[in-house]
Amino acid sequence: MTTIKPAADLAVRAAIAARTEALFRASGAFREGHFLLKSGRHGDAYVEKFAVLSDPAATSELCGYFAASVSGQAGAPGAPGEASVAGRTAPPGAAVAGREAMTGATAAVPLSSRVDLVAGPTTGGVILAFETARQLGVRSIFAEEVRGADGAAHREFRRGFSIHPGERVLLVDDILTTGGSLLAMIPAVEALGGEIIECAVMVDRSGGRAALTSPVTGRVYPLRSLWQLDLPTYEGGAATCPKCAVAEPLYAPGSTGTGVATAGA
Ligand SMILES: [Zn+2]
Repeated sequence: MTTIKPAADLAVRAAIAARTEALFRASGAFREGHFLLKSGRHGDAYVEKFAVLSDPAATSELCGYFAASVSGQAGAPGAPGEASVAGRTAPPGAAVAGREAMTGATAAVPLSSRVDLVAGPTTGGVILAFETARQLGVRSIFAEEVRGADGAAHREFRRGFSIHPGERVLLVDDILTTGGSLLAMIPAVEALGGEIIECAVMVDRSGGRAALTSPVTGRVYPLRSLWQLDLPTYEGGAATCPKCAVAEPLYAPGSTGTGVATAGA
């Protein structure tokens, strides 16, 4: 080990983060404006992950970074210098929107066969698991949310999906916020005897978690993100929200994806 390797890793992670941001912006998955969020608070940026998942080329490229991280490839995007022009167009006021980081330690990696399968949670994780597994040449499965007799929700591999004891599993998902869907995946994999090698997400909005702890066994698994994104939210009103202060129309993104313009709050 030399001191050059960590510096190179950081450069690769920064390039991947910039490229991920650029792909989210280009597909319309990352938008800036004045948004009424589900929480009732206001935001000046909004992430609609299905905009990027509906772009096969972008999704395939992002899954390539997941695959590269477990197959020992460096995985730097594009030609040298490309990352310096990708993204980074955020105007003043959105300064905290793009904090690049590939979280999680880079382990000494054998060149191939670090994973036997890729697993993800419904719905976005199905697409990501499929494409990542396709690139790695392994199989892909997904877990669905089901309710037990007590009414509590958990995730379960159904449809005949199996994990053989000791098989090495890469867990993938789109956006990590509270970590809920990935945390629910972990016991489902553990119950079948799978060995989770790494958890990987496209965007980490959790504030930079580096690991996920199994709620059942207490085991800690490394978490890797392509892009770390911290978006501020504001109480509505000219005194608290910068977009309200300049009377920018408020937009309420809807589940239809079309959004509903509303009067400024
Ligand atoms: Zn506002």
